[in-house]
Amino acid sequence: MQKKVFCLIILLGSISLWSQVGHNLSKKNTSRSATDKPNFILIVADDLGFGDVGFNGSTEIKTPNIDNLAYSGVRFPQGYVSSAVCSPSRAGLLTGINQVEFGQDNNLSSNQPGFDPEFLGMPVTQKTIADRLKPLGYVSGIIGKWHLGYKPQFHPLKRGFDEFWGYLGGSHDYFKSTPKGSGHTAPIQCNYKTPSPITYITDDKGNECVDFIKRHQAEPFFLYAAFNAPHAPMQATKEDLELYKNIKDKKRRTYAAMIHRLDVNIGKIVKTLDKYGLKDNTLIVFISDNGGPCDVNASINAPYRGQKGILLEGGIHVPYILNWPKTLESGKVYDHPVSSLDLAPTFVKLAGGEIKKEDHFDGVNLFPYITGKDTSLPHQELKWHFTISAAIREGNWKLISLPDRLPLLYYLPTDVSEQNDVSLKNIEKTKELLKKLGDWEVRLPHPVFLEGPNWRKRQLSLYDKEYQLTQPVNNKP
Ligand code: CA
Repeated sequence: MQKKVFCLIILLGSISLWSQVGHNLSKKNTSRSATDKPNFILIVADDLGFGDVGFNGSTEIKTPNIDNLAYSGVRFPQGYVSSAVCSPSRAGLLTGINQVEFGQDNNLSSNQPGFDPEFLGMPVTQKTIADRLKPLGYVSGIIGKWHLGYKPQFHPLKRGFDEFWGYLGGSHDYFKSTPKGSGHTAPIQCNYKTPSPITYITDDKGNECVDFIKRHQAEPFFLYAAFNAPHAPMQATKEDLELYKNIKDKKRRTYAAMIHRLDVNIGKIVKTLDKYGLKDNTLIVFISDNGGPCDVNASINAPYRGQKGILLEGGIHVPYILNWPKTLESGKVYDHPVSSLDLAPTFVKLAGGEIKKEDHFDGVNLFPYITGKDTSLPHQELKWHFTISAAIREGNWKLISLPDRLPLLYYLPTDVSEQNDVSLKNIEKTKELLKKLGDWEVRLPHPVFLEGPNWRKRQLSLYDKEYQLTQPVNNKP
């Protein structure tokens, strides 16, 4: 009898043990049923010049970690953003829809007379990548800059993100954040812990990204790493400035140092993926939200003319990398025009979602094109509208329409820097593109908010400035 009871206890114990193991296994399987769902890390630099990363030919600024993403990933020498300034560009980036299609034409600043401040942000009718990934089983976090509205209805936690560490404005001091601060010194908001005082904000953001990956390693995640480097204010650490003491111009030296710190923190993120064995299952994207504002941060968009705020290539043509060595051919160069608008549909499709007609994406899933399954082009044309300016790229032609001059037409293969306006020599092409652009512009909705009128005048003057179209020489670190 005693023996039977003993056996029964052993048997029950075994069942309990196995059911526990089974439970753990099934729990693991549930969260990682998911393993086939890739993680997404969208790393956005702010106001980075096209020519200021090693892989785009910088002779002055070293970016080994970003270059490593480029060379072990797929790089897109013809990568564009949908606007030449921060806020509308980010609206396009996060929705996959050209933001002017929903009225977010202008940069986000103070409310203008006659406009309803309740609409001063990315329209709440629009879905972000985070909104779209949520029903597909993803946890989403944004670390850094939001710049898509201050009112509660625009808050990132209302726009699909589960976690937010950052600030709502368009720029931030690198060393200082105060509980009652505003503007550049606004407090850091965080919904999952009490944020510590910032040290150097690029490092703090990098550390928060590392922490996010660590905490969410067992589930599919989307991390929007919204760095503000190298956006003004121009502030770098002494240690990083020392690395670039060979650069005489103080602003340019500070800019280089800020990019160095960005690069170091990108390295930290990649190392964390390695540490937790997530590299094979994570798509990393690196992009800048617009071209470098040469006058503000001493950036160089070489070989492109123009800068942040205008539709010459220097304002909208950005470093663009997709890195996922397990799935995408390392070192591949995909040399056809692609857009930041392509990222949202690409992520949705990779996450197991469907791209539906009613989503009205302007972007496309890039994977069939990169992998060669689809040999046609992702875009027959790309169009931009920004306050008083508009542009269209169709094939090798690009036309820019401005209020104070005849339209500008450039043939990009032989005029990468847009120095030779050939509109009068190609009247038929000019008319054709102007018509396409105009037909599009007149059917766009009115902007939901405006920026101050002073920006329009400034914009025109930026088309007439001289730009540095080649890399600096004799400045080796
Ligand atoms: Ca920007």
